[in-house]
Order: sequence, then C-alpha cells, then structure tokens
Amino acid sequence: MLQPVATPHKSLADYTHICGRDLIEEIRELAGPLRGRRVVHVSATAFGGGVSEILYTLVPLMRDVGLDCEWQVIYGREEFFNATKLMHNALQGNPQDLDEEQWQTWERYNEMNARELAGGWDVCLVHDPQPAGLFHLVPGKARGWVWRCHIDLSTPNSDTMGRLLPYIEDYPEVLFHTSGYVPDGMNGNVNVVPPAIDPLMPKNMALSPEDAAYVCDQFGIDVDRPLICQVSRFDPWKDPLGVIDAYRIVKERMPDVQLALVGSMASDDPEGWDFFNATIAHADGDPDVHILNNFNNVGAIEVNAFQSHADVVVQKSTREGFGLTVSEALWKARPFIGGNVGGIPLQVEDGVTGFLVSSPEQCAERSLELLSDAALGRTLGLRGKEHVRSHFLTPRYLRDYLKIFGELIES
Ligand code: UDP
Repeated sequence: MLQPVATPHKSLADYTHICGRDLIEEIRELAGPLRGRRVVHVSATAFGGGVSEILYTLVPLMRDVGLDCEWQVIYGREEFFNATKLMHNALQGNPQDLDEEQWQTWERYNEMNARELAGGWDVCLVHDPQPAGLFHLVPGKARGWVWRCHIDLSTPNSDTMGRLLPYIEDYPEVLFHTSGYVPDGMNGNVNVVPPAIDPLMPKNMALSPEDAAYVCDQFGIDVDRPLICQVSRFDPWKDPLGVIDAYRIVKERMPDVQLALVGSMASDDPEGWDFFNATIAHADGDPDVHILNNFNNVGAIEVNAFQSHADVVVQKSTREGFGLTVSEALWKARPFIGGNVGGIPLQVEDGVTGFLVSSPEQCAERSLELLSDAALGRTLGLRGKEHVRSHFLTPRYLRDYLKIFGELIES
C-alpha cells in the first residue's frame, strides 16, 4: 500500500566542480562502509513542497554512492490529509488543535501504513509528522530509525505537541533545521542539519537571461518592466496577501512594476485551493499581478525562469521551516528579500546577502531600494550565491546523512 516513487539516475561525480573535490571525496569515504545498506525514505507526498523536492535528488545520490535506497509514500485519503494539515498548522503555532476524531484518523492511517510497511531495512527515515507514528508502532521493521522534521517547531500548539511527542521522542536519531526547532523531551540523538537544493536540477541550472525572459513573456509578463516575484505554495504562512500589499506600496512610487505569484498545489494540501482563490480576490483584477500555478503548466523550468528573470525575488513568509525557495533564488544570484522568520535568516544575512523584513511596508521599502539600484542587488546576490554554495547544496546534505547513518549502524 505504500507507493514506491520512481526517481531519475544522478551521479555524484557531476557535482565535483560545483561543490569542490574535497567534499565529494569525504562523501565517498563515508559511503564506503555503508555500501549495500537498505535505506527507505517514507514521506506523505511525492509532489509539491520542499520534502519531495529534496528527495528527488537525495534518493538517487544515495543510490549512486552505493546505498540500496528507496522512497515510499504513505497511503492517505482526504480525511487523513485534512487532519495532517491541521496538525502541520498547529505545530507551527496555530491555536487550533485536532479534535479527538481527527487524532484517531491520524492514528488509524499510521497503523495502516505501519502494517503495510515492509520490514528488513537497515534505516527507515521518516519525514515530517504525517507518518511519524511508524517507529512507535513497528520498531522491529528497521534496525535504525530517523525522524526528519522539515517544519518550524519553535512555538508549537502545546496540546498538539503533547499528543505527538510519544510518537517522536524515542526515535534514535532526529533532524531539525535549527536548534530553535528542537522540542523538549527528545530522547534520541538530536542533529541540527538544514536541507539543501540541487544545483543540477532543471529548476536551478543556469538559464540564459534571454531564455528566462522568453519564458516569462509567454505568461504575459512585460519583460521590459520591473518584476517582483514570489514562488510558493498558496498558504497563509507564505503570506502572498502581504506580498500583494507590499507590491501596491511599490506601485504607487513605481507604476511600471509587476508582480508574479507562482505557486504549485500539493496533493497533501486541501486548503491550497481556498487560499489560491483568496489570493486572486486580494489582487482584485490588477492586470500587473500574475497569479500562476502548476495547472498553468508552471513546472521546474518556468519556476527557474521567474526566479532568474525577476528584479527582486521575495519570500515574505511569516513562518517558514527552511524555505528552499530562498536558496533557489540566491543560487541564481538574485536580489532577495525574505521574511525574518524560521530558516530564512540561516540563508540570508540582512544587508549582506539580501534583506530581511517583518512587514509589507518594510518589504516595499527594500523592493524600491533594490529596484532603483541594480548594482546593490547584484552585490548582495553574488554574495548570496557563494553562501549557498558553501552551505546549502545537496552534496553537503548527503554527507550529513551518511555520517548519521554510519553512527546509527555502528550503534
Ligand atoms: N515550488 C515549485 N513550484 C511552485 C511553487 C513551489 O516547484 O509553483 C517548489 C519551490 O521551488 C521549492 C519547493 O516547491 O523547491 C518549496 O519548498 P519550500 O521549502 O520553499 O517550502 P514548502 O512548500 O516546503 O513549505
């Protein structure tokens, strides 16, 4: 019942000259003793959002260095994903906890998936809260267990956290993006490991300015006028409404400016459509606000083109686990403005590699500054790119996982 996800072939050797030879050699040394080990990644969806984005690269690279690695997606129906979306929001600080029936739904689907999960793994790596119950329910199905948390647990709803804790507290290894996300009461080994982006994916490979402009032009963007862009799921925490408010302030002083909000719809995000419609309503028919999603054929190349072409890339989140879109924009050396929350300040040093803001007004001020000073944006963007090269490309992330697997298997 868990669905295996097919991933393309990737070769670690291809990353040598982008990430540096030393790192690649370190990875090969760490991978040697792990050759042939059976590793399964378990997640809630194979499409949409950061987790699937990461696994499409990490799983093939784990295979390339010799692990027998698979990725499986749990079974869930709408009632389960409604409950897990609520749980996700509550864990990120929303006051509404799941009701008893929703908790039972979550538990029932975890039991179902636990029963169906095959056994005999060296490592079972569980992503996020949706399937987090697996270890507690069937610890014998893998020799080593890892829980990888991708969300911001800095200010969780305490009832929700209290009910989830018995399922996560005993994982032998847990990973969080920052130390501020680690809940009290974890009994296993706590690792602070941020995720990373794949520089060789179509989304992040260098696109010429002409090609990027050509793509944007086809979505109705006037490529001769300034463009602000945010790429994100349609989710209240990503604050697309605040981005529209910031754009309106900019527009008063710079009437030529355009805004693109590019957002995919994830299969495990039932709220997405309502919020998409709310965003369209907030734009109020402004012809210079372009709201696009994957059903308009906005795939990886299109996201790349918007991020590469935009004069300012924004990620104005009010909560953010890590924010892969931040590294994606910086890797393209773009002038960048991000919300000063979650994983964004890990990636952006205010005034050095981009700007951090806490309101639509600040976002508008910084946008105007960057739109009127291309050299400033270029300097920040180039520094941002080197910061991403050193810290947020997939081979570094692969190395960190291999170290953890090594410790887990030895113990
Ligand atoms: N993304 C995409 N198309 C879209 C919107 C988002 O491919 O229309 C990708 C985006 O480029 C990034 C990922 O989805 O790689 C989102 O990850 P992030 O960590 O920024 O946020 P999450 O959705 O996991 O909260």
